[in-house]
Amino acid sequence: MVEKLTEIFGKDVFNEATMVERLPKKIYVALKKTIENGTSLDPAVAEVVANAMKDWAIERGATHYTHWFQPMTGITAEKHDSFIAPTVDGKIIMEFSGKELIKGEPDASSFPSGGLRATFEARGYTAWDITSPAFLREDASGVTLCIPTAFCSYTGEALDKKTPLLRSMEALSKEATRVLNLFGHNDVTSVSCSVGPEQEYFLIDRNKYLQREDLIFSGRTLFGAMPPKGQELEDHYFGSLKERIAAFMKELNEECWKLGILAKTQHNEVAPAQHEIAPIFTTANIATDHNQLLMEIMKKVASRHGLTCLLHEKPFAGVNGSGKHNNWSMVTNTGKNLLDPGKTPHENVQFLLFLAAVLKAVDDNADLLRLSASNPGNDHRLGANEAPPAIISVFLGEQLADVLTQLIETGEAKTSKQGGKMNVGAHAIPEFGKDATDRNRTSPFAFTGNKFEFRMLGSSMSIAGANTVLNAIVADVLGQIADELEKADNFELAVHDLIKKTVTEHQKIVFNGNGYSDEWVVEAEKRGLPNIKSMVEAVPALVSEKAITLFTKHNVFSEVELHSRAEIEYEAYSKTINIEAKTMIQMASKKFIPAVIKYATSLAASINSVKSACPDAIVSVQEDLLKETSALLAQSQAALKKLTAYVDEAADKEGSEQALFFRTVVFPAMAELRTPIDALELLVEKEVWPVPTYGDLLFEV
Ligand code: ADP
Ligand code: MG
Repeated sequence: MVEKLTEIFGKDVFNEATMVERLPKKIYVALKKTIENGTSLDPAVAEVVANAMKDWAIERGATHYTHWFQPMTGITAEKHDSFIAPTVDGKIIMEFSGKELIKGEPDASSFPSGGLRATFEARGYTAWDITSPAFLREDASGVTLCIPTAFCSYTGEALDKKTPLLRSMEALSKEATRVLNLFGHNDVTSVSCSVGPEQEYFLIDRNKYLQREDLIFSGRTLFGAMPPKGQELEDHYFGSLKERIAAFMKELNEECWKLGILAKTQHNEVAPAQHEIAPIFTTANIATDHNQLLMEIMKKVASRHGLTCLLHEKPFAGVNGSGKHNNWSMVTNTGKNLLDPGKTPHENVQFLLFLAAVLKAVDDNADLLRLSASNPGNDHRLGANEAPPAIISVFLGEQLADVLTQLIETGEAKTSKQGGKMNVGAHAIPEFGKDATDRNRTSPFAFTGNKFEFRMLGSSMSIAGANTVLNAIVADVLGQIADELEKADNFELAVHDLIKKTVTEHQKIVFNGNGYSDEWVVEAEKRGLPNIKSMVEAVPALVSEKAITLFTKHNVFSEVELHSRAEIEYEAYSKTINIEAKTMIQMASKKFIPAVIKYATSLAASINSVKSACPDAIVSVQEDLLKETSALLAQSQAALKKLTAYVDEAADKEGSEQALFFRTVVFPAMAELRTPIDALELLVEKEVWPVPTYGDLLFEV
């Protein structure tokens, strides 16, 4: 019998239901309290929880456990230990102590630390994040109990993406609660943020993938001419699924559900071979863990179907790349979404205040948000010739924009535009309610009904960074608001004035038009909005005086941590471009140039043999081809030499200087090598080309 979805869901998670079933009531209550109040865990409680977790895991076939963490590589890390412990009679028992649950000590000197730890001070600790449930993972190595953990250095600095995220959630909770208490909501004791990330990806045939070093080493194609067909017919978007893809999605969903990931929506995306999956939103911390897991599962499941899942932001030039839309909102412990405007937003003062706070936070810290969405892959999207733009603006939609205009112009908002009824003019289709606001697909930061959608993130990125920044900057503004309102004599008047002042001062960040247009770039410049074109140019925002003040004030990052993270960003950029450039050099010199030389030689031989067989024969086609091929070959060789020299030169540099050199010198030289080789691909006969082409990769899945 087929297992019911409701039975599959969460079956590999040590979740609430399992805890209730397996823990003594007293222990369960103590653990819950610790989770809710953020207090530290009693070792005696940990001991019992560890034992129950172990029994549960072993019953399910687990032999090992691991502290699962998220170092600054952006992917997850784990070290497995088996449960075995020897007994005096030479046998073993299965053991797992409270201490082992709470704390791990991986020798982590090889993880990026940005100078935070020298290799001789290799101690790093992982600590159980009790707010994210443990889970089981099965692969060829067997079943492993995975414990979500934070990762820090011996001196207590965060070495991971989870710790700052948790700290930012605390900051947001604290400041938002202060504001809500001023509104008289004394039952609100905490505020959490909800996140629902939409994940885009490509699926290509694994055998073809394995024939391209660029995909293997860098996750994207570094060469490749456009096939006759790209995405112009828009026939892939929401198109019906091919069998092989459908089978992949089915298994992906099941794997997600087992782990309690609320996989909900799936469809084909704009580019050929591109797809999307979106879960239902949950708390930011868990959403982050789940998204990391999702990306891992996608890769695993793809390989089981003879496919490879590409999470790179721009695997193919000329067609859309992949992003991640980070839907974000704030919810009270009493269950109220603070970004829900209700039917008449103009009357909803509390909503307007939180909205104004987000506007101010985004406007004041656009540089930090831009950085939080930066990685080398996303440079091909943001600010390049693709959506979304690198300029941060906020889309509010007609209804809210109108409310704000009323506020700014008259000091008072009296009406909210309503959606009305939709009649499509065919009787068979029932009338339905229309939203008050249409969607806007071109805004990097869009209000979508009861949440903001931050659309700039790259598909391969951890969402921890963006949410850490978002929480921290909104917490900061809410803190300022609370400071001001706490002093006010007349609360209502003060709130009203504060909303008006804030939206007036920050209306420049609101843009409801087409974010992809050239006019917007000009207009944004007039408004003084930053247009940061690349990751390398974005990094300094992290260590600006403003950022240091903000992050340290709310205990999200220490100054040392910020500097180390900036270092890591530069390093990551340099390393990535270095790998890409070296891969290009290898492919050009070992594959493309030799293949084309062979082709040119065969052309020359054909000219000679035709001429000797028939001296009067016209060989102008072959001669033209040979000339063109030779010219492009020469161009390739020159570009190859130049790129090689630059890569050598880059090796002597370090830090921001090196990253800038990679960006401004090596990166353009890569394009110079690609151009003649792509031209050659179009020129020579198909059989000559040593790797699968875009046509093969994108359309023959
Ligand atoms: P799309 O933007 O493609 O139309 P959906 O409307 O389906 O997508 O929603 C996108 C994501 O937003 C989903 O992950 C959904 O769970 C999430 N989401 C919905 N409401 C909220 C909320 N209040 N806070 C955070 N995320 C939310
Ligand atoms: Mg969306």
